[in-house]
Amino acid sequence: MSFLYYKDVIEEEDLVMAFISRNDIKPMIVKSGETLNTRYGVFPHDLMIGARYGEQIASAKGYGFIHLLQPTPELWTLSLPHRTQIVYTFDSSYVVQRLRVLPGSRVIEAGTGSGSFSHAFARTIHSNGRLFSYEFHKPRYEEAKGEFECHKLPNITLTHRDVCTDGFKVDGVNVDGDAVFLDLPAPWEAIEHLDEVVAKDRRVSICCFSPCIEQVVKTIEALTAKNWNGIEMVEVSGRKWEAHREMVRDVDEAVARLKDIKKRAVAGLERKRKLNQTSDEFENEDIDIQTTEENDISHKEPAGKGETDLKPKSDQNTKDRGYNPFGKGMRIREGDPAYNWINVTRSEPEVKSHTSYLTFAYRNQ
Ligand code: SAM
Repeated sequence: MSFLYYKDVIEEEDLVMAFISRNDIKPMIVKSGETLNTRYGVFPHDLMIGARYGEQIASAKGYGFIHLLQPTPELWTLSLPHRTQIVYTFDSSYVVQRLRVLPGSRVIEAGTGSGSFSHAFARTIHSNGRLFSYEFHKPRYEEAKGEFECHKLPNITLTHRDVCTDGFKVDGVNVDGDAVFLDLPAPWEAIEHLDEVVAKDRRVSICCFSPCIEQVVKTIEALTAKNWNGIEMVEVSGRKWEAHREMVRDVDEAVARLKDIKKRAVAGLERKRKLNQTSDEFENEDIDIQTTEENDISHKEPAGKGETDLKPKSDQNTKDRGYNPFGKGMRIREGDPAYNWINVTRSEPEVKSHTSYLTFAYRNQ
């Protein structure tokens, strides 16, 4: 198994992404005799060996099931052990295309951190490209090294280095980078060392990933001083848009609805009064339920009945539809051509994807 190639059948020692739910994906190395314990049941690894990636398996005990997914950088980003803040797919996908990273690209990345973006770069540049990744924190460097080996990513050269003081040179290798990604607290200190490792014969692009605007300003100053051009700062502000159709209702229908509520409330109170008079049974009983029932037309009244109904464009089949115009009871299919609709879009009020500002620049040699 490698992040660079797809594979059909799961074998011992392969990495599998156990998809338990959208928010619960567990990466695991399959080993015979071991088990995956989840709140949905116990899944022996022996059931996974020989299964196909993408397959669903049932638990040996319990009633649960999981999907055995092929590892991808996107799933890894969602499930990796965090050692630092990481770059999420929202940003990494945008950066990869803005830096024009392709199979065969030579990419410089600092720092490696949890290796989230490293996996995305490694998959994109593929086996004919090279990622030069740098990390100055020894335990993080070692963890990342182990992961890259385990995930069979031989196209990553990982170096234990402080790039702000010691630069990016790698012994015996012409780095010749054509894309640079800096996710460091002080990228402006590293920028001055790039001249010695970026390509001299083709366009080079850079992206600096910084959470504060003060860092962006210092980065832009350093880029300008080193003759990078086309400088542009971008913020990825992803948000969900919901697009749907809403039924058009007019004022007459709203007025009819209010009249209907009033009429039913009066009728309910009258009925309650009569019941209290005629039946000792009801004397001390709370009969709110009955009044409520009276008021709640949705469960009692058939569709399209009475003056309160929303009128379809034509009156065809309204009764059969069992439709209650006020949202209770049977529901009508959105866009039903018998009614009038308008297209509506709404966005989430909060922007959830902001992690950092992305400063891009280029050099044409
Ligand atoms: N982009 C990474 C990812 O997606 O997982 C996360 C990077 S993390 C925010 C920043 C990393 O840069 C940290 O692990 C830190 O140790 C490392 N770092 C900070 N300054 C450094 C420097 N001068 N040289 C090398 N690494 C550095």
